[in-house]
Amino acid sequence: MPGHGSDGLELSSLQDLYQQVILDHYRRPRNKGPLDGATHTLTLNNPLCGDVIDLMLRLEGDRIAEVYFEGRGCSISQASASMMGAVLKDLTIEEALRVMDTFTRMLHGDSDAAADTDLGDLRALAGVAKFPIRVKCALLAWNCLDELVGPETPRS
Ligand code: ZN
Repeated sequence: MPGHGSDGLELSSLQDLYQQVILDHYRRPRNKGPLDGATHTLTLNNPLCGDVIDLMLRLEGDRIAEVYFEGRGCSISQASASMMGAVLKDLTIEEALRVMDTFTRMLHGDSDAAADTDLGDLRALAGVAKFPIRVKCALLAWNCLDELVGPETPRS
């Protein structure tokens, strides 16, 4: 069967279209680091799956000028980071945190959140809601964002 390489993924029950979007981001990640002039960086890992994400932001005031990442791990973790960079670029921190909230609600099965076009390609990850153990993979890059610029983080 051409095109059916074995990469250890367990995505067979996700919708095919979404699977293609996820694998495309996984194989050809957008916004892959390093990022010159990064103002914020943080590395987190997900020991349950072995995922590692090193997130790099370049902020200009309260605007996110660039989001880059480096990392390794499963397709869900890496695709989520790749999609994140495209969706958050040029948003304000407040707007980005709203996207994070919508994305998190989608991963917990909220169908209104899953229909929000602000999520862009991230909506391809909606099926992850059916696999609770993979939700941590999808949120890894976002946990970096939350720790770097989230509401709990003091900003000068
Ligand atoms: Zn993972």
